[in-house]
Amino acid sequence: MRIVLLGAPGAGKGTQCKYIVGKYDMLHLSSGDILRQHRAEGTELGKKAQSFMDSGKLVPDGIIVEMMIDRINKAPKIGFVLDGFPRTVNQAVELDKALVLSGKKLDIIVNLKVDEDVVLKRITGRRSCPKCGAVYHIVNLKPKVDGVCDRDGVKLIQRPDDTAEVVVSRLKTYYQQTVPVVDYYKAENNVCEIDANKDAEEVQETLFAELDVLVK
Ligand code: ADP
Ligand code: ADP
Repeated sequence: MRIVLLGAPGAGKGTQCKYIVGKYDMLHLSSGDILRQHRAEGTELGKKAQSFMDSGKLVPDGIIVEMMIDRINKAPKIGFVLDGFPRTVNQAVELDKALVLSGKKLDIIVNLKVDEDVVLKRITGRRSCPKCGAVYHIVNLKPKVDGVCDRDGVKLIQRPDDTAEVVVSRLKTYYQQTVPVVDYYKAENNVCEIDANKDAEEVQETLFAELDVLVK
Protein backbone atom coordinates (compact mmCIF):
# COMPACT_ATOMS: atom_id res chain seq x y z
CA MET A 1 0.00 0.00 0.00
CA ARG A 2 1.28 3.49 -0.86
CA ILE A 3 -0.34 6.32 1.04
CA VAL A 4 -0.02 10.11 1.08
CA LEU A 5 -1.25 11.74 4.28
CA LEU A 6 -2.20 15.40 3.88
CA GLY A 7 -3.36 17.92 6.47
CA ALA A 8 -2.52 21.23 8.09
CA PRO A 9 0.50 21.53 10.38
CA GLY A 10 -0.56 19.89 13.65
CA ALA A 11 -3.51 18.04 12.08
CA GLY A 12 -2.18 14.76 13.46
CA LYS A 13 -0.36 13.33 10.43
CA GLY A 14 2.65 12.06 12.36
CA THR A 15 0.45 10.61 15.10
CA GLN A 16 -1.70 8.68 12.61
CA CYS A 17 1.38 7.53 10.69
CA LYS A 18 2.73 5.90 13.85
CA TYR A 19 -0.57 3.99 14.17
CA ILE A 20 -0.46 3.00 10.49
CA VAL A 21 3.05 1.55 10.63
CA GLY A 22 2.13 -0.20 13.88
CA LYS A 23 -0.60 -2.12 12.08
CA TYR A 24 0.41 -2.40 8.42
CA ASP A 25 3.82 -3.40 7.11
CA MET A 26 5.02 -0.12 5.67
CA LEU A 27 7.61 2.60 5.97
CA HIS A 28 6.86 6.03 7.45
CA LEU A 29 8.60 8.78 5.46
CA SER A 30 8.17 12.18 7.14
CA SER A 31 9.80 15.07 5.29
CA GLY A 32 9.84 17.15 8.49
CA ASP A 33 11.56 14.38 10.48
CA ILE A 34 14.11 13.78 7.73
CA LEU A 35 14.88 17.53 7.58
CA ARG A 36 15.24 17.72 11.38
CA GLN A 37 17.60 14.75 11.24
CA HIS A 38 19.75 16.54 8.64
CA ARG A 39 19.85 19.61 10.88
CA ALA A 40 20.82 17.57 13.93
CA GLU A 41 23.63 15.98 11.93
CA GLY A 42 24.73 19.37 10.56
CA THR A 43 24.62 18.30 6.90
CA GLU A 44 24.71 20.80 4.00
CA LEU A 45 21.05 20.05 3.31
CA GLY A 46 20.22 20.69 6.96
CA LYS A 47 22.01 24.04 6.85
CA LYS A 48 20.16 25.05 3.68
CA ALA A 49 16.79 24.14 5.19
CA GLN A 50 17.30 25.84 8.56
CA SER A 51 16.18 29.43 7.89
CA PHE A 52 13.10 28.31 5.92
CA MET A 53 11.97 25.94 8.67
CA ASP A 54 12.55 28.41 11.50
CA SER A 55 10.50 31.10 9.78
CA GLY A 56 7.63 28.76 8.86
CA LYS A 57 8.32 28.84 5.12
CA LEU A 58 8.64 25.86 2.83
CA VAL A 59 12.07 24.57 1.96
CA PRO A 60 12.52 25.02 -1.84
CA ASP A 61 10.92 22.27 -3.96
CA GLY A 62 14.20 21.26 -5.63
CA ILE A 63 15.82 20.33 -2.31
CA ILE A 64 12.77 18.50 -0.96
CA VAL A 65 11.93 16.59 -4.12
CA GLU A 66 15.46 15.23 -4.46
CA MET A 67 15.59 14.30 -0.76
CA MET A 68 12.23 12.50 -0.75
CA ILE A 69 12.48 10.72 -4.11
CA ASP A 70 15.87 9.41 -3.05
CA ARG A 71 14.30 7.98 0.15
CA ILE A 72 11.37 6.49 -1.77
CA ASN A 73 13.68 4.84 -4.30
CA LYS A 74 15.89 3.42 -1.56
CA ALA A 75 12.92 2.19 0.49
CA PRO A 76 12.64 -1.55 1.06
CA LYS A 77 10.03 -3.29 -1.08
CA ILE A 78 7.15 -2.69 1.27
CA GLY A 79 4.54 0.04 1.14
CA PHE A 80 5.12 3.58 2.39
CA VAL A 81 3.17 6.40 3.94
CA LEU A 82 4.31 9.90 3.03
CA ASP A 83 3.85 12.48 5.79
CA GLY A 84 4.42 16.15 4.99
CA PHE A 85 5.30 15.50 1.33
CA PRO A 86 4.12 16.59 -1.21
CA ARG A 87 3.31 20.05 0.11
CA THR A 88 3.11 21.94 -3.19
CA VAL A 89 1.49 21.04 -6.51
CA ASN A 90 4.94 21.07 -8.09
CA GLN A 91 6.16 18.49 -5.55
CA ALA A 92 3.10 16.33 -6.29
CA VAL A 93 3.83 16.49 -10.03
CA GLU A 94 7.48 15.53 -9.46
CA LEU A 95 6.42 12.66 -7.20
CA ASP A 96 4.03 11.37 -9.88
CA LYS A 97 6.81 11.47 -12.49
CA ALA A 98 9.18 9.54 -10.22
CA LEU A 99 6.53 6.93 -9.43
CA VAL A 100 5.77 6.43 -13.13
CA LEU A 101 9.49 5.88 -13.77
CA SER A 102 9.64 3.17 -11.11
CA GLY A 103 6.33 1.59 -12.13
CA LYS A 104 4.58 2.42 -8.84
CA LYS A 105 1.35 4.20 -8.05
CA LEU A 106 -0.33 5.77 -5.05
CA ASP A 107 -3.24 3.77 -3.60
CA ILE A 108 -4.86 6.43 -1.47
CA ILE A 109 -4.52 10.07 -0.51
CA VAL A 110 -5.86 10.74 2.97
CA ASN A 111 -6.69 14.33 3.89
CA LEU A 112 -7.01 14.98 7.63
CA LYS A 113 -9.41 17.91 8.01
CA VAL A 114 -9.12 19.90 11.23
CA ASP A 115 -10.55 23.28 12.26
CA GLU A 116 -8.05 26.08 12.70
CA ASP A 117 -8.70 26.61 16.42
CA VAL A 118 -8.07 22.90 17.04
CA VAL A 119 -4.88 22.95 15.00
CA LEU A 120 -3.56 25.94 16.97
CA LYS A 121 -4.09 24.14 20.28
CA ARG A 122 -2.50 20.97 18.94
CA ILE A 123 0.62 22.70 17.62
CA THR A 124 1.28 24.95 20.60
CA GLY A 125 0.77 22.00 23.00
CA ARG A 126 2.99 19.61 21.02
CA ARG A 127 6.12 18.38 22.79
CA SER A 128 8.69 16.05 21.24
CA CYS A 129 11.54 13.90 22.42
CA PRO A 130 14.84 15.24 21.02
CA LYS A 131 16.31 11.73 21.17
CA CYS A 132 13.72 9.35 19.69
CA GLY A 133 11.31 11.84 18.04
CA ALA A 134 8.23 10.58 19.96
CA VAL A 135 5.47 13.19 19.96
CA TYR A 136 3.16 14.05 22.87
CA HIS A 137 0.66 16.76 23.73
CA ILE A 138 0.53 18.62 27.05
CA VAL A 139 -3.23 18.01 27.33
CA ASN A 140 -4.41 15.50 24.71
CA LEU A 141 -1.68 12.85 24.58
CA LYS A 142 0.34 13.24 27.75
CA PRO A 143 3.46 11.28 28.65
CA LYS A 144 3.24 9.17 31.82
CA VAL A 145 5.46 11.67 33.65
CA ASP A 146 4.98 15.34 32.73
CA GLY A 147 7.69 16.63 30.38
CA VAL A 148 9.54 13.30 30.10
CA CYS A 149 9.61 10.80 27.21
CA ASP A 150 7.98 7.44 28.10
CA ARG A 151 10.45 5.52 25.98
CA ASP A 152 13.84 6.86 27.01
CA GLY A 153 13.30 9.23 29.95
CA VAL A 154 14.69 12.23 28.02
CA LYS A 155 13.28 15.72 28.74
CA LEU A 156 10.70 16.73 26.12
CA ILE A 157 11.15 19.93 24.12
CA GLN A 158 8.92 22.29 22.17
CA ARG A 159 9.89 22.51 18.50
CA PRO A 160 11.26 26.01 17.77
CA ASP A 161 8.70 26.39 14.95
CA ASP A 162 5.77 25.38 17.17
CA THR A 163 5.46 28.81 18.77
CA ALA A 164 2.33 30.89 18.20
CA GLU A 165 4.22 33.41 15.99
CA VAL A 166 5.75 30.88 13.57
CA VAL A 167 2.49 28.92 13.43
CA VAL A 168 0.72 31.89 11.83
CA SER A 169 3.24 31.83 8.99
CA ARG A 170 3.05 28.01 8.64
CA LEU A 171 -0.73 28.07 8.38
CA LYS A 172 -0.61 30.83 5.75
CA THR A 173 1.87 28.74 3.77
CA TYR A 174 -0.41 25.72 4.17
CA TYR A 175 -3.51 27.50 2.79
CA GLN A 176 -1.62 29.03 -0.12
CA GLN A 177 0.57 26.13 -1.19
CA THR A 178 -0.69 22.83 0.24
CA VAL A 179 -4.48 23.08 0.03
CA PRO A 180 -4.23 23.09 -3.81
CA VAL A 181 -2.46 19.70 -3.58
CA VAL A 182 -5.75 18.14 -2.41
CA ASP A 183 -7.51 19.40 -5.55
CA TYR A 184 -4.62 18.20 -7.68
CA TYR A 185 -5.07 14.68 -6.33
CA LYS A 186 -8.87 14.80 -6.53
CA ALA A 187 -8.61 15.01 -10.31
CA GLU A 188 -7.16 11.52 -10.73
CA ASN A 189 -6.62 9.76 -7.42
CA ASN A 190 -8.52 8.03 -4.67
CA VAL A 191 -8.87 10.85 -2.09
CA CYS A 192 -10.40 10.15 1.29
CA GLU A 193 -11.24 13.06 3.60
CA ILE A 194 -11.41 12.38 7.32
CA ASP A 195 -12.77 14.60 10.08
CA ALA A 196 -9.68 14.74 12.28
CA ASN A 197 -11.09 17.08 14.93
CA LYS A 198 -11.94 13.99 16.93
CA ASP A 199 -9.60 12.33 19.39
CA ALA A 200 -6.66 10.39 18.03
CA GLU A 201 -8.17 6.94 18.53
CA GLU A 202 -11.43 7.82 16.79
CA VAL A 203 -9.51 9.22 13.84
CA GLN A 204 -7.42 6.05 13.79
CA GLU A 205 -10.54 3.87 13.63
CA THR A 206 -11.96 5.78 10.67
CA LEU A 207 -8.62 5.69 8.92
CA PHE A 208 -8.08 1.96 9.49
CA ALA A 209 -11.58 1.23 8.14
CA GLU A 210 -10.59 2.99 4.89
CA LEU A 211 -7.22 1.23 4.66
CA ASP A 212 -8.68 -2.20 5.45
CA VAL A 213 -10.86 -1.91 2.36
CA LEU A 214 -7.72 -1.43 0.25
CA VAL A 215 -5.82 -4.26 1.87
CA LYS A 216 -8.60 -6.77 1.12
P1 ADP B 1 4.12 19.79 10.58
O1 ADP B 1 4.29 18.83 11.71
O2 ADP B 1 3.68 21.11 11.01
O3 ADP B 1 3.27 19.27 9.47
P2 ADP B 1 6.71 19.21 9.45
O4 ADP B 1 7.48 18.57 10.53
O5 ADP B 1 6.11 18.35 8.41
O6 ADP B 1 5.59 20.13 10.09
O7 ADP B 1 7.60 20.30 8.72
C1 ADP B 1 8.38 21.25 9.44
C2 ADP B 1 8.99 22.22 8.45
O8 ADP B 1 9.85 21.52 7.53
C3 ADP B 1 7.98 22.95 7.54
O9 ADP B 1 7.43 24.11 8.16
C4 ADP B 1 8.87 23.29 6.34
O10 ADP B 1 9.73 24.39 6.61
C5 ADP B 1 9.75 22.04 6.21
N1 ADP B 1 9.13 21.03 5.32
C6 ADP B 1 8.67 19.80 5.68
N2 ADP B 1 8.18 19.15 4.62
C7 ADP B 1 8.32 19.98 3.55
C8 ADP B 1 7.99 19.90 2.17
N3 ADP B 1 7.40 18.82 1.64
N4 ADP B 1 8.27 20.97 1.39
C9 ADP B 1 8.87 22.05 1.89
N5 ADP B 1 9.21 22.21 3.17
C10 ADP B 1 8.94 21.18 4.01
P1 ADP C 1 1.33 16.79 12.31
O1 ADP C 1 2.29 15.66 12.04
O2 ADP C 1 0.17 16.82 11.37
O3 ADP C 1 2.01 18.12 12.41
P2 ADP C 1 1.12 15.61 15.01
O4 ADP C 1 0.77 14.21 14.77
O5 ADP C 1 2.50 15.92 15.42
O6 ADP C 1 0.68 16.52 13.74
O7 ADP C 1 0.09 16.18 16.10
C1 ADP C 1 0.14 17.53 16.56
C2 ADP C 1 -0.10 17.54 18.07
O8 ADP C 1 -1.46 17.18 18.34
C3 ADP C 1 0.75 16.56 18.86
O9 ADP C 1 1.04 17.16 20.10
C4 ADP C 1 -0.15 15.33 19.02
O10 ADP C 1 0.16 14.64 20.22
C5 ADP C 1 -1.53 15.96 19.08
N1 ADP C 1 -2.59 15.18 18.41
C6 ADP C 1 -2.48 14.46 17.27
N2 ADP C 1 -3.67 13.94 16.90
C7 ADP C 1 -4.57 14.36 17.82
C8 ADP C 1 -5.98 14.16 18.00
N3 ADP C 1 -6.70 13.46 17.11
N4 ADP C 1 -6.57 14.73 19.07
C9 ADP C 1 -5.84 15.46 19.92
N5 ADP C 1 -4.52 15.69 19.82
C10 ADP C 1 -3.88 15.15 18.79
